[in-house]
Amino acid sequence: MKIHEFQAKELLRGFGLAVPNGRECTTPEEAAAAHEALGTDVTVVKAQIHAGGRGKGGGVKLVRSADEARAAAEAMLGMQLVTHQTGPEGQTVRRLWVEEGSDIASELYVGIVVDRERKLPVMMASSEGGMDIEEVAAKTPEKILKAAFTPADGLAADDARRLAEGIGLGGDLVDQAIVFLQGLAKVFGELDCSLAEINPLVTTADGKVLALDAKINFDDNGLFRHPEVAELRDLFEEDEKEVEASKYDLSYIALDGNIGCMVNGAGLAMSTMDVIKLSGGEPANFLDVGGGASKENVTAAFKILLSDEKVEGVLVNIFGGIMRCDVIAEGICAAVKDVDLHVPLVVRLEGTNVEKGRAILEGSGLPIITAGDLDDAANKVCAAVAG
Ligand code: GDP
Ligand code: MN
Repeated sequence: MKIHEFQAKELLRGFGLAVPNGRECTTPEEAAAAHEALGTDVTVVKAQIHAGGRGKGGGVKLVRSADEARAAAEAMLGMQLVTHQTGPEGQTVRRLWVEEGSDIASELYVGIVVDRERKLPVMMASSEGGMDIEEVAAKTPEKILKAAFTPADGLAADDARRLAEGIGLGGDLVDQAIVFLQGLAKVFGELDCSLAEINPLVTTADGKVLALDAKINFDDNGLFRHPEVAELRDLFEEDEKEVEASKYDLSYIALDGNIGCMVNGAGLAMSTMDVIKLSGGEPANFLDVGGGASKENVTAAFKILLSDEKVEGVLVNIFGGIMRCDVIAEGICAAVKDVDLHVPLVVRLEGTNVEKGRAILEGSGLPIITAGDLDDAANKVCAAVAG
């Protein structure tokens, strides 16, 4: 799960980490009032969407008066903010964060991810903050320093010092950075984060170290332990169909093509995508109905698939292992009768009771195209969509 920058900053503040003061705003008037209340000469109006790169896309603006804050907010609220992380259609801006301007002396980078090889969280720090860290990693990997830690022990003091000094800090700034880095590691461990990234972490002209930006993602499997974090979920930022699917324990992934896919199991989903592509088609999405798909789940899955306007054909590819193919076939027939099927439907079943299952589909009188194997199914759905 992702959260907004301002929510991440509030969490960091709660752990005693240095972040600028700010206000969440949803109207231009609130932004103007926030500028007045914060009282600094410069404040920064920042669009809150679940994507980075906002600065370059026009989602971060420095303002010097309440009027400027109002105007910046008017321009940002409701806009489709396009960044390299949003995709070409962008993301609608519904919330803003107005914060005290900082007089930046240097922009640094710090991030924590889980290193799957070491099976530990690893903190990365770099003097090259404010820019694309992937580019730094590709071109000048020596400029990224690393330290692993365990959630139980946290980041060791000497590791924190090594990173702080290694990214060029000196004097009192080192001590502030050590507190920040150890604090960030604590947040990561205690809140079951999957990512915590501060880009940039800045030093200011008046000698402070603070987080100018904050991105925190959480491991969904740990959310039950943090109801206060789960509450920060913003469904507006998530794909509508993915949200709908999650209500039925279905995993839905949106793609760009025109063939909707209903499968069971992530591995089968992957190979189904591959075979569709080999047959010359492009998947519009895939919906994984899981191992124990009920009639209700199959119906919900169909509705979600068909609500995607890009879908011009549907391929159902289900392996009946624990679930029997005849039960699945009955579910599909019931779902087709229940929803308004306006595109060709190709079904490939395999596994337990497959003959019975096919007989049910073929005897249903419904416009269902049955297929033998996966190649056959992919060819049939690609042909149906093309024709
Ligand atoms: P992102 O583009 O989505 O990663 O948004 P950031 O919060 O990282 O902001 C982008 C850039 O805006 C930063 O790297 C800074 O250079 C600049 N910026 C943000 N806040 C301030 C501020 O308070 N003062 C100054 N001078 N620049 C800021
Ligand atoms: Mn940033």
